[in-house]
Amino acid sequence: MTAQILDGKALSASIRVDIRETISKGIAAGKTAPGLATVLVGEDPASAVYVRNKRRACDETGMVNFHKELPADIGQQALLDVVAELNADQAVHGILVQLPLPKGFDYDENAVLQAIDPAKDADGFHPLNQGALMQGTPAPIPCTPKGVMALLRETGLELSGKHAVVVGRSNIVGKPVSLLLLREHCTVTVCHSRTQDLAAVVGSADVIVAAVGVPELVKGNWVKPGAIVLDVGINRNAEGKLIGDVEFATAAERASWITPVPGGVGPMTIAMLLQNTLEAAWRTGA
Ligand code: NAD
Repeated sequence: MTAQILDGKALSASIRVDIRETISKGIAAGKTAPGLATVLVGEDPASAVYVRNKRRACDETGMVNFHKELPADIGQQALLDVVAELNADQAVHGILVQLPLPKGFDYDENAVLQAIDPAKDADGFHPLNQGALMQGTPAPIPCTPKGVMALLRETGLELSGKHAVVVGRSNIVGKPVSLLLLREHCTVTVCHSRTQDLAAVVGSADVIVAAVGVPELVKGNWVKPGAIVLDVGINRNAEGKLIGDVEFATAAERASWITPVPGGVGPMTIAMLLQNTLEAAWRTGA
């Protein structure tokens, strides 16, 4: 079997076109342009690239970007003050504080995430929204897991009753994607660094979501023939090339569908961020 490719780049592009059209029609009908605030603390190059891409996507869809670039040593209280200011600003509908915050300055990331107005929580990381996700009530959903589910829907396959194995249990990917798969009536197994016989557990999966951050940890020959493989990992190999958490070439020989890295889950994250911001803006009737 040679897997069909789940093309996140193409899906993300078409979602962004839809968002642009929705915004343009909404504005023509008198609505306020959705506003996304991006907050970058310090000068970490990877974070700077992520934020630049998010800002560019914002501009392309007709959203207004409010950007705050803050020095690494601004400090916890001053950062909380910036968040409070954005919470109070009626033109801002989504707020994103790029993580991780700079090391060595005693930032409390959880306190910063909790300070964001849950209704403006474009990343879906506020504990209230994470609780809503657990209960299955409407709330902003973390962008990468939401993107994984959008890609899964593209396969058109019935998920109910399927065995989904999620490798990784982080708060931003592994745990939320597990809850979303449960919502689709999958039987979900969550694996992590202490899971025993990972190969056997992964080998029993109809749907595999790899979110580990270890290059090619999931071997192609573990994949059950016909399984769907979603690779969230973004790693660089010795030659500097981007690779995922799954051994792509061998996995693609056995899977029915697979996401490439790059061009799979990665581009979906920004599309979902824009979707969360749009929903936050127009849910409030702005
Ligand atoms: P994390 O470091 O917070 O969590 C990694 C998880 O993997 C942990 O739960 C850990 O228990 C598990 N793990 C580690 N070693 C393992 C092993 N040998 N066997 C089984 N499980 C193991 O990582 P994260 O933030 O969830 O990110 C995971 C990957 O996804 C990274 O490569 C990251 O760059 C990528 N990522 C991509 C996007 C995107 O937009 N595509 C977004 C977020 C994260």
